[in-house]
Amino acid sequence: MILLDYIINLSIFSLLVSTPLVIRSLINHYPLKRFRLWVGVYAGIVSTILVALSFQQKGYSYDIRYSAIILVFAYLGPVAGIITGGFALIARLLVSVHWLPAIIGWLIIMIVFSILRLYISRFTPVKRCIILFGAYVVIYVTTVPVIFNVFPDRPIFHLQYIVFVMMGVIIGGLLIESNENLYRIITEKISMKKALEKSEFKYRLIAENTSDLILVVGKEDKVSYYSPSHVHVLGYQNSELENIELFKLVHPDDVDIFRNTIRILFENTEPQTIEFRLRHKQGHWIEFESRCKPVLGEKSLIAHIVLISRDISERKKAEEQLLQSEKLSIVGELAAGIAHEIRNPLTTIKGFVQIYKSNGGIEYTDLLLSELERIETITSELLSLGKPQVIQMNHTNLKDLIENTLELLLPQANMNNIQFKLSYEGSSFFITCEQNQIKQVFINILKNAMEAMHEGGEIHLNLRKGAEGKCIISVRDEGCGIPEEILKRLGEPFYTLKEKGTGLGLMICHKIIKQHHGTITYHSKVNEGTLVEIVLPLVS
Ligand code: ADP
Ligand code: MG
Repeated sequence: MILLDYIINLSIFSLLVSTPLVIRSLINHYPLKRFRLWVGVYAGIVSTILVALSFQQKGYSYDIRYSAIILVFAYLGPVAGIITGGFALIARLLVSVHWLPAIIGWLIIMIVFSILRLYISRFTPVKRCIILFGAYVVIYVTTVPVIFNVFPDRPIFHLQYIVFVMMGVIIGGLLIESNENLYRIITEKISMKKALEKSEFKYRLIAENTSDLILVVGKEDKVSYYSPSHVHVLGYQNSELENIELFKLVHPDDVDIFRNTIRILFENTEPQTIEFRLRHKQGHWIEFESRCKPVLGEKSLIAHIVLISRDISERKKAEEQLLQSEKLSIVGELAAGIAHEIRNPLTTIKGFVQIYKSNGGIEYTDLLLSELERIETITSELLSLGKPQVIQMNHTNLKDLIENTLELLLPQANMNNIQFKLSYEGSSFFITCEQNQIKQVFINILKNAMEAMHEGGEIHLNLRKGAEGKCIISVRDEGCGIPEEILKRLGEPFYTLKEKGTGLGLMICHKIIKQHHGTITYHSKVNEGTLVEIVLPLVS
């Protein structure tokens, strides 16, 4: 009937182990270590019960009090283990008359377990259980049959006892481990949830309180997220924004570039910056500068584009004012040369009018008219340059535009002994542009060229077709040239090497050319001259 006694003992033991674990999970889930001493006491009571449940086999009593002791040492350390051991010893002494072997055996086990436990404190509890149980087996085998001479010739008898204790350790260990694992999973889940809530809160705080527009665009130009800032910046209700088609908000002139940028971003991981206008609910347009970044999704493919857009209306206004003031300063500078130039035809006219008066003839009429026309062109070009204009993109013949610009600069060129040499490779060069702005670019570049040529010379202008439907306008002077280290800085605001320079000319050129989706590059050799190349898209 030993098997039945085994089963009864192990069942009651497992009930005593699992009950407090279940109760703990219902009340709170503090780690066992927090009340290790109380657990030591409880385990002591359990081992007392186990001693009480011991059964006799051939005059030797069987119990699994050491299962409880091994578990407490393994999970909670030597102090709790000795408390449990103390209970077990007292219970054992109460029911037995063989005090000496019981006390000696107990002492050996407590000392060995305590020392061993210090060395294995870094191991997992399961490994500690195995090592402590192994130590228990060694102590048992060397003390009980050998030193105390208990049935030295009946190994099966001792084996039964060891297996009995082992079963207790396994059952108790499994119950504690399963409970602890459950606890671990639950706490991990709770802390993950907390971390998630925290980071979500952080991002929501940023997204909801920024005045920048944050937009996430997925495949097929579907908006998958828009920040709440869209509501107050653009004036639409949430319900309107939810179903809105993105491109319907974009200014018709900017739709192509916007659409193209999004398309390129889905193919290319390089971030891009674009400027475009969005329609406010009340109908007016707001200018935005947008930083667009592709985001990789599954399989390292681009799944989303994140656009962070900022209202740049104020900046644009300031830029326009700068442009206007730079324009006026150019007008001022050109005025002297032009006044000089106008004086020449006026002198001619005056002379001929005097001859007219004395002769009453008509033979000089054509000459007079042509001189008057020249005055008219120069003054009207000057006026149109100085006037603030509404920005209007028009189809423009570059050839005409360059020729008109040269007209305006001729007086200054003549004064400085400079000749313009204009050449074309091809016939029609049409671009879409704001004429006055492109004119201003040419004036700035040509003025720089003239100012670099202190001894006069030639400025070669060439207009030709480039790759991919673009045209190239090159301006080559024979001036002082630009040193290598300065080349990099061209276009920086207020960067000038001239005593009376503003350092704004090239900066404005860069801005204008960029707005026209073109590029501007410089090649230069000191004392030989400079070549400026402007590339602009032709009308297809
Ligand atoms: P500013 O003409 O008022 O100095 P810009 O922005 O037009 O300002 O030019 C910046 C600087 O670049 C000039 O001061 C000059 O030193 C240099 N630079 C520009 N173009 C040329 C050129 N063609 N040859 C030599 N230097 C040039
Ligand atoms: Mg300049």
